[in-house]
Amino acid sequence: MDNRDFIKPDRKFAKEVIDLGGESINKCFQCGTCSVVCPLSPEERPFPRKEMIWAQWGLKDRLLKDLDVWLCYQCNDCSTNCPRDAKPGEVLAAIRSSSIMHFALPNFLAKALSSPKYLAAFLLATALLMFVFLWAAGDLAFPEGDIVLHEMISFVDIYIGMAVIMVFVLATTAIGVSRFWKNITAFEANPGLTFSTRGSLIRSFVSSMIKILKHSNFGKCETNRISRYTHLAIFYGFILLLLAAFLGAVYHLVGIDPPYPLTSPVKIAGNIGALLVFAGCVMVIYRRLSNSSDLGKTTYFDWLLILLLFFVTISGIATEVIRLAELAEATYWTYIVHLWLMFQFLVYLPFSKGVHLIYRTLAMTYAKQIGREVDRAGQS
Ligand code: SF4
Ligand code: SF4
Repeated sequence: MDNRDFIKPDRKFAKEVIDLGGESINKCFQCGTCSVVCPLSPEERPFPRKEMIWAQWGLKDRLLKDLDVWLCYQCNDCSTNCPRDAKPGEVLAAIRSSSIMHFALPNFLAKALSSPKYLAAFLLATALLMFVFLWAAGDLAFPEGDIVLHEMISFVDIYIGMAVIMVFVLATTAIGVSRFWKNITAFEANPGLTFSTRGSLIRSFVSSMIKILKHSNFGKCETNRISRYTHLAIFYGFILLLLAAFLGAVYHLVGIDPPYPLTSPVKIAGNIGALLVFAGCVMVIYRRLSNSSDLGKTTYFDWLLILLLFFVTISGIATEVIRLAELAEATYWTYIVHLWLMFQFLVYLPFSKGVHLIYRTLAMTYAKQIGREVDRAGQS
């Protein structure tokens, strides 16, 4: 048996990358400018030039195992400098979207949720499931008197519904993430690469987490610096919303039930979190609608996640504002819509761009561990 590296092209995969936003891929003539200007690409086997030719050839197996695809922050410095307008930043984003679909289980759901053809079915199915759940739990009657949301849908029913959804979300995410990790750490994943060091996994993880918490890699970009602030607003807003939900559960367990005053820690965390997510979403939507060239092409994969997050946030804020205005029926309806949107958002999360955060953290961790995450300034 010889050691030749046999190439197994997958034309369907090349087409999928094109459909997911990488339509300029065939313009690349391998000049290498993109790899030279990329602020995050290491000296040894730099990206994204090699990914461009692998994607043109439809080398799906190689790209699914490629760590470098996940080290890219889509800053688009490469796309701005590409002499052929092949948009390597967008091609890498399309490869990441395709990888998420490949790793996610159940695969049919991942494929369906990636296509606008099935959007109406998704909205209807989630509405129907929620209606059946609320009907079975006897939660569809609006209470008389003061507006108290948990008198319409009890805490127990909220906890049961959330528990079922979270089991689904965590199980599907865990399966996708473990398949991803197995691929990027496979021995043959990075042929020809010399692993000079193999550091501690924990230390590498902590170092990557610090970078993620600061979003510091965005700071190395020239073209798309503003993305750092939109990502930071959404990221920390989301963490505050999780904190508010956690505090709300603790308050309930110790017998303090809503409605809470605006000065309560639950409200402070929830309201600041909602405003941060709202501001981040508005900035992203505005930039995408204005076709900001530094952002690259916006695909359905980008739109669905950001719009779901935007409408979840807006409906949450609207529920509170309408409740303060003491419009009982409107409050209850808005709250139901808010829960429905939240349901859609959580179900979609494991198949969406939202799991980038986990995939990228793991890729950065492994890159750090094997001594690959070294930028052009020589900083590790
Ligand atoms: S993507 Fe553009 S810059 Fe990169 S190798 Fe191809 S033609 Fe050159
Ligand atoms: S988009 Fe930015 S990080 Fe990604 S390959 Fe291009 S230059 Fe590098």
